[in-house]
Amino acid sequence: MKIKLHWKLTFIFCCAVVLGLFISYFYLSSRLTESFENDLKTSLKYRLSLGKNFLESQLGPQNTLSDPMTLANTIGQQQNLRTTIIAMDGTVLADSYLKPYELNHIENHLHRPEIQQALLNGLGSSKRYSKTIRRYLLYMAVIFGKDHPAGFLRYAVPISYIDVLEEAQQKTIIGSLILIFILSLGFTYIISLVVTRPLVAMASIAKSMAKGDFSQKPYIYSNDEVGDMARALSYMSNQIQDKIDEIRKETLKLNAVISSMFEGLMVVDEKRRVILMNLSLRKLFLVDFDPEQKASIEVIRNPQIQDIVDRIIKNRQLLVSEEVDISYPQSKILRINAVPIIRDNTLMGAVLVFHDITQVRKLERTRQDFMANVSHELRTPVTSIKGYSETLLEGGLEDKDRAKEFINIIHQNSSRLESLINDLLDLAAIESNKMTISLTPLDIKPILKRCVGIFEKSIKDKGLSLSIHLSDNIPKILADEKRITQVLLNLLDNAVKYTSTGGIIIEISLKNDLVQIDITDTGIGIPPNDTSKIFERFYRVEKSRSRDLGGTGLGLSIVKHIVESHHGDVWVISKVGQGSTFSVTIPQA
Ligand code: ADP
Repeated sequence: MKIKLHWKLTFIFCCAVVLGLFISYFYLSSRLTESFENDLKTSLKYRLSLGKNFLESQLGPQNTLSDPMTLANTIGQQQNLRTTIIAMDGTVLADSYLKPYELNHIENHLHRPEIQQALLNGLGSSKRYSKTIRRYLLYMAVIFGKDHPAGFLRYAVPISYIDVLEEAQQKTIIGSLILIFILSLGFTYIISLVVTRPLVAMASIAKSMAKGDFSQKPYIYSNDEVGDMARALSYMSNQIQDKIDEIRKETLKLNAVISSMFEGLMVVDEKRRVILMNLSLRKLFLVDFDPEQKASIEVIRNPQIQDIVDRIIKNRQLLVSEEVDISYPQSKILRINAVPIIRDNTLMGAVLVFHDITQVRKLERTRQDFMANVSHELRTPVTSIKGYSETLLEGGLEDKDRAKEFINIIHQNSSRLESLINDLLDLAAIESNKMTISLTPLDIKPILKRCVGIFEKSIKDKGLSLSIHLSDNIPKILADEKRITQVLLNLLDNAVKYTSTGGIIIEISLKNDLVQIDITDTGIGIPPNDTSKIFERFYRVEKSRSRDLGGTGLGLSIVKHIVESHHGDVWVISKVGQGSTFSVTIPQA
């Protein structure tokens, strides 16, 4: 049970007040009793001296009293006190409370304390229980006698007499003390409320601070300890607010960096539970739930990645850098660098950074393939040239007919070498973005006419037909003349090369604001699996046939690059044995 501070203070004050009142009460009571007793003793003393004088006046010539009983009763009635007259040997001669015949049963009083005291000092007193009248009594005795002691006069006053007087006074004292108690109770309650109010206010502000509300400030300006505490609380609140702002800013910065990171990032604790996973990594592994506090293996279900986490957390490796091929949810090659988080020599967890190197590896592979292809393509004509020229040098020139044939082959191969080198240079220029393209509005019809003119002889030689269909509404295209010419020449060259019967149809039309050029042949066609690959460098459906026909395997790849740099598109629709249609679109000017 929670007891409020002001109640506690009130209780403590009350206890102190009650204790004070008790002490006051007992002190006052004892002082009062003492004072009453003293007053009584003084009064008894005075009355004893009156009684003594009276008795001494009644003494006979032998220093004796003739009728002590009557005298005791007279004095007793006058003084309204129990009066006893005792002989010097302690025999009770008379007692105002007793009948004469009762005196025979009274024991000798010589050893009573008040009598012994009176013997020593002339006056004695004692407070004790009287068996005779069964009450507490205050006894006071005095020796009387004219020339020498004749006996003792003793008065006895019931203590209850003092008690009655005391009781009256005590009631007043107790009443006053109760009043003081009630007043101090109210007073202490008010005081404790006043004292605790600023503390209560500060406690409420501290609670708000704990909930993150730093707007409330303690308005206590007193110059005491409470004021100091309020100022300290206010200062602390400002400091915490500043620190929180700082941390918030840092967190925002950090979050911005982490979420904009292209690399995947995962932080796990020492129990391999995910503490942090950035957006890139969540996208990579299709994590659509909150991964925090989940076991890393539940979030990324890949044993190789789990093994990397284990090596850091379990085997305490300081660095793991590994390439991991993942197949789910997408096929990727990842380089994962993992390091432990160590604070005060204790392992707190691990940080894993995931680099997607799929593209890099693909490019490396393409480059290697390209190098192998280039070497192979160059070696074939060079070997041929070298072989035939050696044969000629070794006496082949003697036979004029064979020499001519050999020189022709050398010429063909050097032409192939030349076109291969030209295509390679073109491709290199395109891929390194060094090829300059100046886009200007061009009329495609004369360009097409010139290109067709170049192939007219070979078309005729192969006995192929040629038809050109041009729509009336063909607008100018936005293109580089040299490069568009190169596209048309490559496509026409292929159409002628791979067609032995039938013919070639060229169509130019306007489709969806784009000028579309379709070159259709009735040649060998391309198998469906190869149609997407023929635009790759060195890809040829039939290597030997292409090579025999003087192809390099680079033509279509150059076409694709040029068309794309014109913001256009190129594709093929083909059927094996029936022919192919290559289509190119170029934006109109
Ligand atoms: P190449 O110099 O070998 O012709 P290309 O890049 O121009 O190289 O063409 C790539 C491959 O596409 C060719 O080797 C050929 O197999 C196929 N090809 C291109 N055009 C045609 C076509 N009109 N008909 C049939 N196959 C074609």
